[in-house]
Amino acid sequence: MRALSFAALLLAGCATTSAPVAVEAPMVAAAAETDPVDTAADAADDPAIWRNASDPAKSLVIGTDKKAGIHVYSLTGKRLSFTPAARLNNVDLRDLGGRVIAAASDRADVATAHVSLFTLDTAAAKLVPLGRFPVGAGEAYGMCLWTRASDKALFGFVVLKDGRIDQVAIDLSGASPKVTTVRSMKLGTQSEGCVVDDRTGQLYVAEEDVGLWRFDADPSAPVTATPIAKVDGKTLVADAEGLALAPSGRTGGYLVVSSQGDNAYTLYRLPGVTYAGRFRIGGGAIDGTSDTDGIDLMLGDFGPAYPRGLLVAQDGDNAPATQNFKYVSWDAVRKALKLR
Ligand code: CA
Ligand code: CA
Ligand code: CA
Ligand code: CA
Ligand code: CA
Repeated sequence: MRALSFAALLLAGCATTSAPVAVEAPMVAAAAETDPVDTAADAADDPAIWRNASDPAKSLVIGTDKKAGIHVYSLTGKRLSFTPAARLNNVDLRDLGGRVIAAASDRADVATAHVSLFTLDTAAAKLVPLGRFPVGAGEAYGMCLWTRASDKALFGFVVLKDGRIDQVAIDLSGASPKVTTVRSMKLGTQSEGCVVDDRTGQLYVAEEDVGLWRFDADPSAPVTATPIAKVDGKTLVADAEGLALAPSGRTGGYLVVSSQGDNAYTLYRLPGVTYAGRFRIGGGAIDGTSDTDGIDLMLGDFGPAYPRGLLVAQDGDNAPATQNFKYVSWDAVRKALKLR
């Protein structure tokens, strides 16, 4: 009996001392926030950034309301337009030499994943629908785009709720788009956030409770998933959600992920994917973020408030208003984390 009690005590001791503690994360203040979405409860979900190279102050941010449609915001956060849609979840965009194409995962039909395509009319700050296209069986959840360097071909990755990833080829050469499913990959459990590095053709996907994975984005490549970072409860706390990139040089820079479980954002240095630090958004005049789903990040000059780039993060709690998106200067993140 005495031995058993001792074992029980040891176990109890282990349980209390071995619980992971999240690594500290400095605060970075939001510089602006968008108008709140119309829908109460959990509604704002995922952003995408378009940088206006000729007039950075006129850059645009797209954001989904997964219960109502999709917004276009100015760089000051003002809502410029709204396009109703049944259930768009994540959104990504690519500037194809003057024509800006946005793609959203569409789960209006939970039995068949769709992708909804839009042209972003950058002068009118409005999304023009190009149609909804079936992808495969299952519920659409995550969405990211890839422009292949060798031939500028456009591909989309639709992450289904069960962890399957369907890759589509998007052909915009005809009068109406052609969307063809070209292959599927598979992760074990619920996955959503994804991003493709156009420099390297590497696809990154977040499996919410497990960690981050990397695939070769080319449809002719093996479908092998390479594990690159774990949900460890310290540097990355479940759910692992939105992903974004801060590229530098040919293969360097950072991969950023929403560490939703502890309201932080974790950075990994590329190309080796080593832990590089973490931060939270808050501590300024604008409320901080919590429970973030989607993020996007684009480097470059976005005007005086964002001289080196713009990071946009969904905010799960914008009380007393409904949810919205926060804007953060990438330069402020770099300074807070003393990045080189
Ligand atoms: Ca949410
Ligand atoms: Ca996005
Ligand atoms: Ca999720
Ligand atoms: Ca907040
Ligand atoms: Ca607010």
